[in-house]
Amino acid sequence: TFYEEPAWLAHLNPAQREAVTLPMDSHGAILAGAGTGKTNVLTHRIAYAIRGGMEPYAIVAVTFTNKAAKEIKERIARLVGEEAAGKIRLGTFHSLGLKFLRKFGHHIGLERCETAAPMDEDEAVALLRRVMKDRFPDTDLKVEKPKDHYFVISQWKEQGLYVNDVPVQKTASANFTRMLYAAYEAEKKRSQALDFADLVLQSNFVLRHHPEVAAVFHQHLRMVLVDEFQDTNPIQVEFIGHLTGTGHSVPTFVVGDDDQSIYGWRGADAGIMQSFLKRYTPNHLVRLEQNYRCTSTILDAANAVIANNPNRIGKRLWTERQDVGSFQLDIFADAEAEAGAIADRIRNLLADGIPPADIVVLYRKNMLSRGIEKALVFRDIPYRIYGGLNFFQRREIKDALAWLRLVQNPLDEMALFRAIAAPRRGVGAKTIEQWKTMAQKQGVALWDVLHSDKKASIQSFVQIVHRLRQVYEAEGLVVLVKKMLALTKLEQYYITAAKERGEECAENLQELVIAAGVFHHEMRATGLHMESLARTPGDLLSEFLADAVLNSDQGGQKKKEGETVSLMTVHKAKGLEFPYVFLLGLEDGEFPKITQSGFCNLEEERRLFYVAVTRSKFSLFLSCVRNRQSFGYTQDAGDDEAEDGLDSHFVSRFVQEIPAHLLGDAARLVQASSRKLVGSETGSDGDWW
Ligand code: ATP
Ligand code: MG
Repeated sequence: TFYEEPAWLAHLNPAQREAVTLPMDSHGAILAGAGTGKTNVLTHRIAYAIRGGMEPYAIVAVTFTNKAAKEIKERIARLVGEEAAGKIRLGTFHSLGLKFLRKFGHHIGLERCETAAPMDEDEAVALLRRVMKDRFPDTDLKVEKPKDHYFVISQWKEQGLYVNDVPVQKTASANFTRMLYAAYEAEKKRSQALDFADLVLQSNFVLRHHPEVAAVFHQHLRMVLVDEFQDTNPIQVEFIGHLTGTGHSVPTFVVGDDDQSIYGWRGADAGIMQSFLKRYTPNHLVRLEQNYRCTSTILDAANAVIANNPNRIGKRLWTERQDVGSFQLDIFADAEAEAGAIADRIRNLLADGIPPADIVVLYRKNMLSRGIEKALVFRDIPYRIYGGLNFFQRREIKDALAWLRLVQNPLDEMALFRAIAAPRRGVGAKTIEQWKTMAQKQGVALWDVLHSDKKASIQSFVQIVHRLRQVYEAEGLVVLVKKMLALTKLEQYYITAAKERGEECAENLQELVIAAGVFHHEMRATGLHMESLARTPGDLLSEFLADAVLNSDQGGQKKKEGETVSLMTVHKAKGLEFPYVFLLGLEDGEFPKITQSGFCNLEEERRLFYVAVTRSKFSLFLSCVRNRQSFGYTQDAGDDEAEDGLDSHFVSRFVQEIPAHLLGDAARLVQASSRKLVGSETGSDGDWW
């Protein structure tokens, strides 16, 4: 080469070095397992190109999350300096799409495109609701819910279907959505708005129809790189395709791992890696097999589990590392014991001087964060939840709490407004204004005005609140929460209204029942509140509500990133690494997740497990519980609970796939559990059932 090789090249292994220094004018791909340095290579390749004289502006690099983009930028800055690193066009698909539309949005009629910003989901649904009211005034918005239609429209857009691409549908309702899609797009255009899906979809539209714009990119771009390529969806791949030109003339470098494809539900396709190789036929396909992240124990476990997936491209990771770290499985009686033990262990690590930022707690579903949050708060350990709200800040929980607040105090107007809209009862801002005026005129509370409203939906609302008050007085907090869910039908409401989040919302609502049970249990156990319990039944509810409010802004979310233990779902942890990893909730049904309707994508769940396990740089603590719901709240009144509750969950089949010698003492328990599991299985070996 005509310039001095950078010293840092020597730190890479030969295969990595090969990938970093591949000719800059050819396509390349890395297909390799977790922790083998794919992201590291991508970073170094960018730095290498810049050192070789490539203009940073001419480089587009796509990452999966903003956090990952930030990390990559920092790594590049260390190699070539901040100024150059700052000029790279680096970001997520959404952020790059927005950047593109801010420059070229006038082609789709965006007038002040320089300042374009997407609506959030609530705003987009509100816009659709307005369209439905204006254009289809006869529609009953309680039946044809704007949000439902919005989700269908969004899904079409994610698939790359523009208004004219959507075929005539089979059902009247679906055809109505199709009509709405057109009206929604027209209104969006009129009001100069963009939704989230537009960022990539509309960019594609401009690039498709304006070859001169695409030509600018082909001319100026020298390199396009994509990390986590296995999880890109078709419109994202199309976007990349446009940037690299019809003949894919811009050198493209993608890195990925088919074993870590975990976004199938969002339209990503595990075969995308193979189809890239077909389309771009990179002259260079590099495989990396040495893992630098994990201990050999963790790798052996990860390799053994993922080996059970059929149709893998197939790779085996190895490591030179000799240190053992720790690897263990603990089986607890219930979720509270699990959370307590994890929090205690974290406290000990911190006491030993381990920085909080080195510790992460991973879980399959957002709702599982609740127990651990509580245990951390109790021990005053600062934590931060990534990509999720604190339990009590979640919308469905706030809705449910609004109902409880109203039961507690019917004069609580904020609670009233919230509860009356969840589920919706066709009460708009106008009605509320009328009520307010009336209340003022008559000098009574809003709640009293509601009683005189003859509308059936309002009457039933009032009745539910009265009924719940009786339930509470007669049967206590836990039954109240259950009855509240039953009478308001909040779960069903969310299952239809929140679509893919629906089931999670319903589970969170169920978790609230559990929270009430735990609270009741604790209050009795500590005896602190016995007096007030005996005196007025109202006190337990108000204390529960106060506890919820306090909890909602606790948890150190205000602390700086480096000062907190991290909590996140496995999905959010992709590409990240931590010395100490706790992976909880390893019961069959929880992980792999099996939905209430019995659906499970076993292969994707297994990849997800593989992602989770391979996040660890040193120690991995796996845990599961015999009974995830075992505080006595399963009995309505919370009376003398049986300590040994029903064994409804068994150890995750993924844990059972870990070689027994790695699990040590716990292996025996796992085997005992697996006998039960086999006995209870339906005999289906397939990945769908
Ligand atoms: P994932 O599949 O999880 O995204 P990855 O393949 O992108 O993993 P990286 O995050 O790039 O892997 O690297 C994993 C770890 O290994 C990092 O801490 C990185 O610094 C380290 N690493 C990578 N290559 C080497 C090397 N040649 N020598 C020493 N450490 C390395
Ligand atoms: Mg990576």
